[in-house]
Amino acid sequence: MDSTFTCLYCGKAKPQNESSLEHAIPQFMGGEYAPQIFQLTNVCKTCNNNLGLWVDASYAKSWFITNYLAEAARLLCTKPDDPGLPLRCMGKAQIPNLDVPDEHVAEHWIGPSGETITWIRPNDERMDSYTGGNPIDTKKKPSVAYFFPVSESPEKHTLGLRSFHRSLEKRKARKILCAELRDPNGAKVDPKVWGFDSPTADDVLNREAIRTAIHAGNIPMQVVVNTKFDQRFMCKLSLGIGYSLFGEDFLTHATASEARKGVWRPSDGTKSAMRGTSTLFACDTPFAKVVGYPGAVAIIVMKSGPSWSMCVSIDEKIPFIIELGPGSMTSQHVNSEEGYALLLFPYRENCVELTMAALIAHRLEVMKHSALEQIDLIRGAASQFDAQLAASSP
Ligand SMILES: [Zn+2]
Repeated sequence: MDSTFTCLYCGKAKPQNESSLEHAIPQFMGGEYAPQIFQLTNVCKTCNNNLGLWVDASYAKSWFITNYLAEAARLLCTKPDDPGLPLRCMGKAQIPNLDVPDEHVAEHWIGPSGETITWIRPNDERMDSYTGGNPIDTKKKPSVAYFFPVSESPEKHTLGLRSFHRSLEKRKARKILCAELRDPNGAKVDPKVWGFDSPTADDVLNREAIRTAIHAGNIPMQVVVNTKFDQRFMCKLSLGIGYSLFGEDFLTHATASEARKGVWRPSDGTKSAMRGTSTLFACDTPFAKVVGYPGAVAIIVMKSGPSWSMCVSIDEKIPFIIELGPGSMTSQHVNSEEGYALLLFPYRENCVELTMAALIAHRLEVMKHSALEQIDLIRGAASQFDAQLAASSP
């Protein structure tokens, strides 16, 4: 039978109809805007589903990554009617007198100008460290989000509202406005026009409880962090990137099988011998400055000593460095002298592919790269917009 394939992630032989289309670079990193070579067809449906929920989401929804991605997006937001920025997560909130149903929690989020959002959503203890909880549950099970605007400024208003709605777009959440809104002429605006639902009697009480807590500055918050949130994900990403760039040869080396072990954590307790430096231990190293880019999810592949390594950073921060395989591997996509760089800008829905040497030359202003010059212009406009926003009425 020739109609089987070996799944990249689990390494098992699977019938052809079990194959699924998978982005080697997940969506939250901007994978859907990445070059074609990063689309995989040798991933089984089971891995695609399970790893998406337990590995990708565990990284993407960790407190660090949620907030670094929000920060990166902000560097590229140029006007109030941009799609709306990701909200920042402050953690689970204990608000006195708030009615939180059983098996639910209240989570506190902050909008781009300091708007506060209290989201009462289903709780899944297995995903305690996920901001926003179980992403599948919150698509299906009802929840309620209370939005407190902070400002009369129309720009802040527009951006805050767009950000709020964007973050709940795929959630089954009722949206309750917690202040009176007025248009630029001072006339009262019907909250429905802004996409809000009518409050129930319980909402009215909850709204009051949150308002009281905010005014008293009394909202104890708790953040749950899994300090190993990045290792499994980086092992999985290294499999996808290594295979996309170096093909079948990549799979013949010990690094690939160790990465697979790192994804699956074998039940006999053997640890993956993957070599790398994790996020929490390599924070803000000078290395990350050179191989990252402001506002970008940067994936850099370069030869260091006898092997190929991959470095992943977000907005020049939290670099993770992992070994991909021996330096003898070759790729038509990677210049073995100059290295490979992929800068993804999920918020702008684009990416820039170049050599690492070209990236460094651009950053040192030795030789400008035209696509990065465009990004730099956007960043300039975004920083102007940010200053304008800060100066607009409170
Ligand atoms: Zn599989």
